[in-house]
Amino acid sequence: MRFFFPDSLDQVDPSFNFETEDRSATRIRQRDDVYAHELFQRPPYDGLLVSKAIVDGTSASNGKYTMAQRHRLLRDGVREFFRLDARASTSRLKTMGDCGAFSYVKDDRPPFSVHDVIEFYESCGFDLGVSVDHVILGYDAELDASLLGLEAVPTDWRRRRELTLELAADFLAAHRSSNARFTPIGVAQGWSPHSYRDSVKALQSIGYKRIALGGMVALKTPDILRCLEAVAETRSPSTSLHLFGVTRIESIGQFAEHGVESFDSTSPLRQAFKDDKDNYYTRDGSYTAIRVPQVEGNPRLEKRIAAGEVNQDHALRAERACLQILTAYDKGHAGSDDALSALAEYSAIHGIGQQQLDREKRTLENRPWKECPCAVCKALGIHVVIFRGAERNRRRGFHNLHVFYFERLGRSASDSDSPDTSESRLPAGLIHEW
Ligand SMILES: [Zn+2]
Repeated sequence: MRFFFPDSLDQVDPSFNFETEDRSATRIRQRDDVYAHELFQRPPYDGLLVSKAIVDGTSASNGKYTMAQRHRLLRDGVREFFRLDARASTSRLKTMGDCGAFSYVKDDRPPFSVHDVIEFYESCGFDLGVSVDHVILGYDAELDASLLGLEAVPTDWRRRRELTLELAADFLAAHRSSNARFTPIGVAQGWSPHSYRDSVKALQSIGYKRIALGGMVALKTPDILRCLEAVAETRSPSTSLHLFGVTRIESIGQFAEHGVESFDSTSPLRQAFKDDKDNYYTRDGSYTAIRVPQVEGNPRLEKRIAAGEVNQDHALRAERACLQILTAYDKGHAGSDDALSALAEYSAIHGIGQQQLDREKRTLENRPWKECPCAVCKALGIHVVIFRGAERNRRRGFHNLHVFYFERLGRSASDSDSPDTSESRLPAGLIHEW
């Protein structure tokens, strides 16, 4: 099972000092900041997924790349841009380009032409390139049983599926005639198990050997499994499947049993700072990160200070005391009771409730960061579980990627920073070399 990490230029600043919260005055973001694959001795993924929509932007969303970054990506290529060939451990990473179809899901048609997309993939030098597709925003397995057949399916859903298949046919023809070097992947869209199956069948007859299933982000595990079972009825043994945007990462072993050979997911990174409680991964579970928000630049708190509900000096003192005592606790210089009472006092200022505090107490008392062998936890100590600012939050996301890849997906010990990794949790024989 291959894991592709969707790029969104997530980097951290190695010069950031967690005690003083200062940075090097000479830091140049583009030169000095590092990606997750540079932070660890071994990268916590098999490849990067880069979306044209994130690089270029669309009418609905701004791209993440500045004009200069975009030019550099197109001029130097994806491997140079992400410094993938700088080390032996990262040189094995594969690169996949796609359109980022969710960013234009509300448009009538994809904003990119087949020609533009092929040119983008070739300029960047991707290993794999995904055909232009249009996501169907709906799922209804009952439609497969309807006596009306396709008549029962909303017109727009049918149109999007047909458009995706037409674009896939054009994409493969243009790929062949332009002698493009990347490996083409066709996208299957659908609204039900049978419609996904029929899309896969159509893509195989167009000539695709690699097929990605799209639009499943919101589906629950049993629905995804039903689609995969239906796809298995038609999938040729030589066709390999990629699953786009997996959020049900705990079910990845089951997906592998149904023929999925690669997938991508932002969940390990995003949960670090978007989830209410599952912020810090362990092999078998997760912990809630300890919220110590900044007083400065906090609009909600600033409003309360202006309204006279909170005293600013008191808030600043409580913030400092809270951070100091958490650090002291990590070093064994303060007890958990003292740390908890400082945390409770500071949390009250921000209106953080008891239920949340109880979850944070579990994190504080169990000290999971002490057990983690990853480079982030070793360097940061307790700061990795403190929910505060991008430098901490993003590093916690990188830690999650590390746990997810090496411990939960069970990549071999030779792939890991740690000499002590678990055995593979996936069924044997399912690893296909892309
Ligand atoms: Zn860690």
